[in-house]
Amino acid sequence: EFLTELQAGRLDSVRIVGDKLEAVEKTSTTPAAKAPGEQRGIVAMRMEDPDLIQRLKTAGIKFGQVPDGSAFRDVMSWILPMLLMLGFWWFVMGRMGRTQGQVLSLGKSKAKVYAEKDVPIRFADVAGVDEAKDELREMVEFLRNPAAAGRLGGRLPKGLLLVGPPGTGKTLLARAVAGEAQVPFFSINGSEFVEMFVGLGAARVRDLFEQARAHAPCIIFVDELDALGRARASSIMANDEKEQTLNQFLAELDGFDPSKGVVLLAATNRPEVLDPALLRSGRFDRQILIDKPDRAGRVEVLKVHLRTVRVAPDCDPGAIAALTPGFSGADLANLVNEAARMATRRGASAVETADFHEAIERMMGGLERRNRIMRPEERRRVAFHEMGHATAALALDPSEAVQKVSIIPRSAGALGFTMRRPLEDRYLLARGELEAKLAVLLGGRASEMIFLHESSTGAADDLDKATDIARAMVTRFGMSELAGQITYDREQAPYLGTRVLPGSHDYSDETARVIDQEILKLVDHAYDKAARTLARHRTFLEEGVRQLLQNETLAEETLKDLWARHSEVESQAKGA
Ligand code: ADP
Ligand code: ZN
Repeated sequence: EFLTELQAGRLDSVRIVGDKLEAVEKTSTTPAAKAPGEQRGIVAMRMEDPDLIQRLKTAGIKFGQVPDGSAFRDVMSWILPMLLMLGFWWFVMGRMGRTQGQVLSLGKSKAKVYAEKDVPIRFADVAGVDEAKDELREMVEFLRNPAAAGRLGGRLPKGLLLVGPPGTGKTLLARAVAGEAQVPFFSINGSEFVEMFVGLGAARVRDLFEQARAHAPCIIFVDELDALGRARASSIMANDEKEQTLNQFLAELDGFDPSKGVVLLAATNRPEVLDPALLRSGRFDRQILIDKPDRAGRVEVLKVHLRTVRVAPDCDPGAIAALTPGFSGADLANLVNEAARMATRRGASAVETADFHEAIERMMGGLERRNRIMRPEERRRVAFHEMGHATAALALDPSEAVQKVSIIPRSAGALGFTMRRPLEDRYLLARGELEAKLAVLLGGRASEMIFLHESSTGAADDLDKATDIARAMVTRFGMSELAGQITYDREQAPYLGTRVLPGSHDYSDETARVIDQEILKLVDHAYDKAARTLARHRTFLEEGVRQLLQNETLAEETLKDLWARHSEVESQAKGA
């Protein structure tokens, strides 16, 4: 119809709207006009017709193209997804920017950086960790005046690792260093480094060090270093991201020059899981042990926290300390808080001893559940066990001094410890010395048997170590008569192509039996020796246990004095 009308010359004008043609007929030629002036219109679908324009021209009618909705839709159909994608991109980038921004903002936002006057903590606020404070004082000196510290040469400490159970004041101590030195304190948690997005963790490490360098002298404190520095091979699934972050951290550590005045402190309660690369010389090669406070330490911590509380005059920190074995510094801070709250609720004018008793009772349940409080009979057993080690060591193995005996549990595994320190470098050990070491290891078990007449699981670790030594004596050092001077436990010798499969050995079953018997004999022998020794020094051991139960730790000096007095009495008895 459209073409017919067009050819007939009856059309006035044509509008091309999208794929439609809207034609208006000339008024005069409209036969079907019902009324004069009325225009009839034709709407036609536009066909694929390359000659259309030419035809319209020839016909000499007005025509034009009008944009329509469908064209708009067409355009939108590809613009809209693009906008959506862009928006999503913005959103993601915005989020990433914000998370990253937290690290970046370390230097910018006042909330995160403790600028000079912002660290109000001093060494006086950290109680009961005097050895750690002594070590850190050098660092404070250095931060106060970085230029002077290197004057006489010598390597400056680069990284210092604070090791100890949670709540013992590691963070507090690091902040105190910043406070004493009046320098900014940058802190970050090891787990914050580990990010979901690949590369972000490493970027954070870089940012942190950059920020710190810009603010030198200052302190960087990495809490929970183990989250970042877990030994790389230990996880079955290689975690590339973690590894990248750790590598970046190591690279920053190596690249940074402490003489610029940036000091790195880190804290962990699990030093054993740290990647050995972190502990290598020139990195965190200095460690400071921070243990839970002993009784005297708890008195000090309590005094610190009681400063801000109004206490009744009858309230004695010593008495509270005696009731709270196993409490960490944080637990004690909590205890003071709790007692103060109870007194407030009571409407009292000061916190009284009864409030502390009630608060202790309340807290005990929770701490016991978390395995941090030992029952009295357990403490007694641990005291006898550790004094067994100490007594055997003092009597049988003078090559190492007994540095400290403690019955403060360090972790779930170690309920107490006897720390020893070699008095000289040793390169060779004679058989007698190895036997003495075995006897010291078995001293714990022997003491439990002699004084408590029953064994316990507490000796498992000792037995492990003793077995290792005894096995080495038999299979590697040729120290057994029956097994002879033969190596049974050869280091694998790949050059001969004789790789021994794990679990297999190149000797007969009869020989294996002999080896086992010889190992057993060595250990039994050492146990007898330990038992005889302990029985002989019974009075010393019992006095040690008494003091240990009272004070929870025994220092080297105390033990030495006690031992000297005991030896005197003994020699007098002999003379008489
Ligand atoms: P960590 O970092 O070792 O887990 P924190 O330093 O965070 O422990 O200690 C938490 C809180 O416990 C401190 O803010 C402080 O109130 C209290 N606290 C812990 N140890 C001590 C201490 N030795 N002296 C005084 N307060 C302590
Ligand atoms: Zn032991």
